[in-house]
Amino acid sequence: MSKSKSSESIKVVVRCRPMNEKEKAAKFERVVSVDVKLGQIIVRNPREAAANEHPKVFTYDSVYDWNSKQIDLYDETFRPLVDSVLLGFNGTIFAYGQTGTGKTYTMEGVRNDPERRGVIPNSFEHVFTHISRSQNQQYLVRASYLEIYQEEIKDLLSKDQTRRLELRERPDTGVYVKDLSSFVTKSVREIEHVMNVGNQNRSVGATNMNEHSSRSHAIFVITVECSELGVDGENHIRVGKLNLVDLAGSERQTKTGAQGERLKEATKINLSLSALGNVISSLVDGRSSHIPYRDSKLTRLLQDSLGGNARTVMVANIGPASYNLEETLTTLRYSNRAKNIKNKPRINEDPKDALLREFQEEIARLKEQLEKRSGKKKRRRKRRGGEGSDGEDLEEGETEEDEEEGEDKGDYWREQQEKLERERKAIMEDHSLVAEEKLRLLKEKEKKMEDLKREKDAGEMLSAKVKAMESKLLVGGKNIVDHTNEQQKMLELKRQEITEQKRREREMQQQMENRDEETLELKETYSSLQQEVDIKTKKLKKLFAKLQAVKAEIHDIQEAHINERQDLEQTQNELTRDLKLKHLIIENFIPLEEKNKIVHRAYFDEEDEYWKTKPITRLEDDQQMMTRPLSAVGYRRPLSHHARKSMMMRPDMRYKAENIMVLDMDLPARTTKEYQEPVIAPKVAAALESALRDEDEIQVDASGFHSSLGSTPPASGSLKKPKSGRPRSVKKSSTPTSPFSPSSPGSQLYPQSRGLVPK
Ligand code: ADP
Ligand code: MG
Repeated sequence: MSKSKSSESIKVVVRCRPMNEKEKAAKFERVVSVDVKLGQIIVRNPREAAANEHPKVFTYDSVYDWNSKQIDLYDETFRPLVDSVLLGFNGTIFAYGQTGTGKTYTMEGVRNDPERRGVIPNSFEHVFTHISRSQNQQYLVRASYLEIYQEEIKDLLSKDQTRRLELRERPDTGVYVKDLSSFVTKSVREIEHVMNVGNQNRSVGATNMNEHSSRSHAIFVITVECSELGVDGENHIRVGKLNLVDLAGSERQTKTGAQGERLKEATKINLSLSALGNVISSLVDGRSSHIPYRDSKLTRLLQDSLGGNARTVMVANIGPASYNLEETLTTLRYSNRAKNIKNKPRINEDPKDALLREFQEEIARLKEQLEKRSGKKKRRRKRRGGEGSDGEDLEEGETEEDEEEGEDKGDYWREQQEKLERERKAIMEDHSLVAEEKLRLLKEKEKKMEDLKREKDAGEMLSAKVKAMESKLLVGGKNIVDHTNEQQKMLELKRQEITEQKRREREMQQQMENRDEETLELKETYSSLQQEVDIKTKKLKKLFAKLQAVKAEIHDIQEAHINERQDLEQTQNELTRDLKLKHLIIENFIPLEEKNKIVHRAYFDEEDEYWKTKPITRLEDDQQMMTRPLSAVGYRRPLSHHARKSMMMRPDMRYKAENIMVLDMDLPARTTKEYQEPVIAPKVAAALESALRDEDEIQVDASGFHSSLGSTPPASGSLKKPKSGRPRSVKKSSTPTSPFSPSSPGSQLYPQSRGLVPK
């Protein structure tokens, strides 16, 4: 499996951003100078007297100043790494540094500006160009995008943005994120789309994007699988995985005053980065056998990139201005340490989980199915064609069909359909058939046609599926003869040569610097005493300067350590206080018994790295609990033999475990009443009767009353009691409607009129 056994160091480069407008306006001093040729960053401290303070010098694999172009970085530093990913190595690019120093600028850059595009978009271009130029190789490219915020992993490409993912480990492939979505991409445009979707999800989730990005780590993963025919005549698959990591801001999260949730947040944010620092330290010091990868999600996920099977480049971003001095120095020291990490990269050949293999197998399977279908079809056709002819013709037919296979597929279906249609028409027109028979035959034909259609659809679906899967596998070699392409390739090669040249120059310069001291010693033959004094003074001065620099460095590091320790102590104190409070609550408010129960149920889940409690029921490990105990059959709860016997002997309350009191059900109370006719007192009834009888002699003809009421009141004014303006009889006349009216003879509604009384 391993092709390259030698180990190699992590490559560390430093990039210093230009002064921004604010810094220029505030007239901040520039304290960083960059020696691109020597690969050195020189930092001066402006506060202390320049005379006794030597500038601090840090040397890296390469350094980039504020004028550096994105493409320079890519060609010099990242292109070789991406190239090795295309060969099947794992690769990782980290951007480390304080917030606002250009991590995101280096990784993503300015989206719509080709000049200022960062590593991620440039690598897209690189990968797909490489594929288009390849020959006799099949590629599958997929992308994933995730974010780690407060030690929780979020899939930036999933529909459900509230879901948190977990890390899992397998002995063969190592640590991976369970259920992380990955998208197969066929072009630069597609993979860019994937990145944009992820970026949107990242910023949508955050109220303040900058604040959020400075507290979270974003990892874009490109997996390139390549299949090629090996010398042994078998297809071999190589899988390269490229992790592009934009880390959280490295500045210390201010903890002063932070308590409760905020304190926890601050500790969690720092956790991954400090764990990264610890991993780097213990990898470098070489004495510790235990590397604390498991301390954080980030270090676990990138375990291979740090001291494992991967090529790694770390970009340390710094700012040039004086007010960032401390952070700049921390970043430089941190990345300087990382230089010494040794990785053991190797080509990942034929891993078990290669998606490309699955794809190839699935395509082969589908093709076989298609083949079978067309085989069936052919046989059927043969049978039909063979009708009436002899066997020899058949064989000829087969070879013919083999040749024209593919193009006549459509013809075959059309032919069949036309034939069925013709047959249907013939049946319709055949008058000799009985109607029923005709119907039956027609139905049969229709069914056949439907079957035919279904079969055709299934076949089409299958071939569409094959096509879709095949289109995901990328093959190059199409425009290999393309002239411009060829030129571009040459140009790239030239550029690569130049960068290689530069790198060699830088290395040589660094070596020369080192040799300088040695050559001084070689010139030990002095012509005069004076010369000897001069040279030795010079040497002494140089050595003294070196000593001072080292002393200063020791002092600085000690100070940094003290700071860090104080920070840790403060966190520890606050966490201890928190713990004490919880203990107090438990001791004073939770009964000992309950506490013990919980303690017994608690266990540590190694997979999730989290304390959990076992379920209360013991059902899973105690099958006995699943069945009802014998003693309880027929009863609600188990009863002893004695109890059952006693219950039968005498109805003793003592052994009545259930239904101690037998109560009737309460019937609901009625809330409605029967209807009752009103009762009239006999006195009243009599009075009414007599009153009505009184009126018997008064007979008013009310038939014309309604019409005469309005116009001729005097007409009734001539009644017996003319005082009231109203005809009294009207009032009276209404009473006969009452059922108690004795005078009403059935249908008679009004008293009979007795006509006008003559004067
Ligand atoms: P970080 O991700 O480290 O917090 P950013 O990448 O967001 O920082 O950079 C902060 C600002 O500085 C951005 O506006 C970016 O355009 C600018 N910047 C960073 N590096 C450079 C550079 N090398 N050249 C020009 N502008 C830069
Ligand atoms: Mg950023």
